[in-house]
Amino acid sequence: MTDIEVSEPDVHRAFEALKRDAEAGGYFLNPDTGFVNSLVQGLITNQRRYGYPACPCRLASGRKDDDLDICCPCDYRDPDLDDFGACYCALYVTSAILSGQQTLSSIPERRPARAERRARQPVLPASANLLSSLPYTVWRCKVCGYLCAREHPPGICPICKVTKDRFERFI
Ligand code: SF4
Repeated sequence: MTDIEVSEPDVHRAFEALKRDAEAGGYFLNPDTGFVNSLVQGLITNQRRYGYPACPCRLASGRKDDDLDICCPCDYRDPDLDDFGACYCALYVTSAILSGQQTLSSIPERRPARAERRARQPVLPASANLLSSLPYTVWRCKVCGYLCAREHPPGICPICKVTKDRFERFI
């Protein structure tokens, strides 16, 4: 039971926005609308509770810097779609799941433990010194892998629509 009220119109609006963004980026929502609506309700609740849309299937810490990797869409969505045909929550699915060619199964948690996440440092290539002379920084979207060479990361990823705090310096 949550003390945060989420109205049906709120869920409907968020559902439509999510569907629009997913389809514009070549992604698919789970065809079970009732199930998706319950996840959307969880996302809205988390947005209101924490100030960011933490994954409704995981326990958020309440600290955005710790939870950035599980802000929806999370950093693990695309590898889970590749390996299992769905993200951890099964909010997003592949065309194979959508068409019934593949059956949904349970998806193991691939998010590393907190200590391991904190220990991870971006790995620069051996030729980093040479690349440092490039006129622009190359930024990588941690959610979908989109790369762009510019002074700062884009405000919104043009592919998966996450915000600029989900970008990492790639080169
Ligand atoms: S994309 Fe990630 S954060 Fe969003 S619902 Fe799926 S598993 Fe949760």
